[in-house]
Amino acid sequence: MPRYTILTWGCQMNEEDSEQMGLYLQERGYEPTERLEEADVVLLNTCSVRRKPEDKVFSTLGQLRKLKERKPHMVIGVCGCMAQLRAEEIKQRAPHVDMIVGTAHVAQVGALLEEVLQKRRLAMRLELPERKGAIVTDLPQRKVDRQPKLKAFVPIQYGCDKFCTFCIVPITRGRERSRPTADILDEIKRLAERGTKEVILLGQTVNSYGKNLLEGRVPFARLLKLINDIEGIERIRFTSPYPRDFRDDLIEAIATLPKVMEQVHLPLQSGDNTILKAMRRLYTVEQFEEIVHKLRERIPNIAITTDIIVGFPGETDEQFENTLKVVERIRFDGAFMFAYSPRPGTPAAAMENQVPRHIKQERLERLIALQNRITCEINASQVGRVFEVLVEGPSQKDPSKLAGFTRENKMMHFVGGRELIGKIVRVRADEAHLWGFYGTLVED
Ligand code: SF4
Repeated sequence: MPRYTILTWGCQMNEEDSEQMGLYLQERGYEPTERLEEADVVLLNTCSVRRKPEDKVFSTLGQLRKLKERKPHMVIGVCGCMAQLRAEEIKQRAPHVDMIVGTAHVAQVGALLEEVLQKRRLAMRLELPERKGAIVTDLPQRKVDRQPKLKAFVPIQYGCDKFCTFCIVPITRGRERSRPTADILDEIKRLAERGTKEVILLGQTVNSYGKNLLEGRVPFARLLKLINDIEGIERIRFTSPYPRDFRDDLIEAIATLPKVMEQVHLPLQSGDNTILKAMRRLYTVEQFEEIVHKLRERIPNIAITTDIIVGFPGETDEQFENTLKVVERIRFDGAFMFAYSPRPGTPAAAMENQVPRHIKQERLERLIALQNRITCEINASQVGRVFEVLVEGPSQKDPSKLAGFTRENKMMHFVGGRELIGKIVRVRADEAHLWGFYGTLVED
């Protein structure tokens, strides 16, 4: 049987696309392998949000060139955001690439592969098969009969209309489109029938779901209620909401729907209003803090995490200090923190007042140190508390233990029998770390 490997960079949406591409290849008789040397087809599902993963893709393509010299029948495809954005450059720098698959053409990966193989069989001069659009506007096709798994990503919305000045996503993923509600519910019901307990709803601005639907607007909070009613599903998460669209009905849905977890990832990006404006984020620090305040007032145990960029063009020392102050005030449970990385084609990349690399690095280190301290303090304050944990499997840190996540999305490691995998159990936190807890199973 021919084999395939998919290497994935970037966000959960890419992970989900990779799963879909795998299903389309399996439909054509391919089976997965993790060993590159064994693979007949290698797909690189790429990310353009920062420069590092892009560089990594080109270096991986360099390694694959050598492998392909030994295995000339190997088919190499580049998919995802870089395929959408940098197809010409990929073709020039990596002529051994056989196909390019844009972000809206995941479902066509099997047909493209067939096209490559057919041309080889006919010894035709190979025009590089390429599927990508300038602006993505249609909804991708999806396979909804998926492999059974405990936790599953479910895209509910594609693309973005916000056009933050640092972000390439509206260009690589196109305009905001919501999936029809009935399709989402159908997919989740099928997942539940196959044993999925937790769904993570995906969208670039997930809480603006429901605009422009042919069937009429379905607010995100209403969608959560409909999913909450699906038998078999026990946990619902979503990522990432956009602060301006975080309305009171969503706070109420989190507070009242038992399957919606007490956890929100709410990207702040900067703690300074001038920088937020330059980023074209459509909220102020005060409005952001107001949402956090309402969330904590209504759902006292809620865990709130965030994304922050330091060193955006023009960011002064004082403006960076403002971010530190907001982080101190809000006390996030955790954060993804980055130094600003200019993305060609975005307005911010063309701004003249770029911050030198060493200053960005210095600021990033200070922010990480602060946030890590806060995360440790918050976790330490929860030692002794009993958490509800969905058991995912053996711990990777210590395979003699089990690992799972609390409702607040904190990792818990504890001793227990393998029969608990897939179940929801109660675990007391004994020891706190930056990454989560060691705990003890609490018998009912
Ligand atoms: S909201 Fe901004 S950062 Fe998020 S995907 Fe849209 S443009 Fe990018």
